[in-house]
Amino acid sequence: MSAPLVSVIIPVYNEEEGLPSLFARLYPALDALGHSYEIIFINDGSRDRSAALLREQFQQRPDVTRVILLNGNFGQHMAIMAGFERSRGQRIVTLDADLQNPPEDIIKLVAKMDEGYDYIGSIRRLRQDRWWRRKASRAMNWLRERITKVKMTDQGCMMRAYDRTIIDAINHSQEVNTFIPALGFTFARNPVEIEVGHEERAAGESKYSLYKLIRLNFDLMTAFSSMPLQIFSLFGMAISLLSALFFVFLVIRRLIVGPEAEGLFTLFALMFFLIGIALFGIGLLGEYVSRIYEQVRRRPRYLVQAVLEQVQE
Ligand code: UDP
Ligand code: MG
Repeated sequence: MSAPLVSVIIPVYNEEEGLPSLFARLYPALDALGHSYEIIFINDGSRDRSAALLREQFQQRPDVTRVILLNGNFGQHMAIMAGFERSRGQRIVTLDADLQNPPEDIIKLVAKMDEGYDYIGSIRRLRQDRWWRRKASRAMNWLRERITKVKMTDQGCMMRAYDRTIIDAINHSQEVNTFIPALGFTFARNPVEIEVGHEERAAGESKYSLYKLIRLNFDLMTAFSSMPLQIFSLFGMAISLLSALFFVFLVIRRLIVGPEAEGLFTLFALMFFLIGIALFGIGLLGEYVSRIYEQVRRRPRYLVQAVLEQVQE
């Protein structure tokens, strides 16, 4: 068996309710592709019957199915990394297990690569999510545009296609806390975006709480830009300049008008504002330090418990 043209990578975490309908749509869609393919499911330590369902599916289609069972929950992006490291295809497609993006659109991504693009991003047509998630991701898109070099219309959509060269670069970079679509983008030579469908989650619930979404966005900003830190040093410089001017002003005022004791609370307000900024700055510094720490510890990024695949001759 030679390497397939297309590898489809699907992270799975507690998706037992949705997996049967995923299988029912995914396999026909890929059989209709007209290219050789493999599907790599990564079970990210699900606590429901997902692993058992994946095992059954592997037994039904061992020719094109591979299953990686991770040893715990390492997060969506690390699960995808585990899939990348074992993928063999020339074109690699990532897809969520929840059917929010239609598997029938994979053919569009793969076909677009024929035109010579090495990174196919995606934009969700008629995005179906909670309003606060739509608003929050609009704000994060805006911020990311300004502080990183990553250009993306819709950063939240994971259905994307990457050329082998990009995946090799990603595998080589061994990042711990990262955001795969952005990492892929930084290695792309000729990226493009197309529209894909989007539906509401049919079964199960979103694995991303507000807290996890905030963490993910911190990863996105700090992994791809050090501008937040630079803004802080600029801000610090501006403040010291202003306070020097303020000092000169107070000295002159002292000489002309005499000593002053009013305006105490204005000073307090000013102080609290600056303390707030300083605390945020320390927290931000901590974000970078903890990233450095995790990276230098060099622990394995994920542990594989078992891999289900057909023996290659
Ligand atoms: N996922 C995962 N590990 C996690 C969280 C999520 O493998 O810790 C998978 C999940 O099974 C799904 C995909 O990542 O296939 C996207 O998750 P979800 O649909 O909950 O995210 P949302 O669409 O709400 O952003
Ligand atoms: Mg989803």
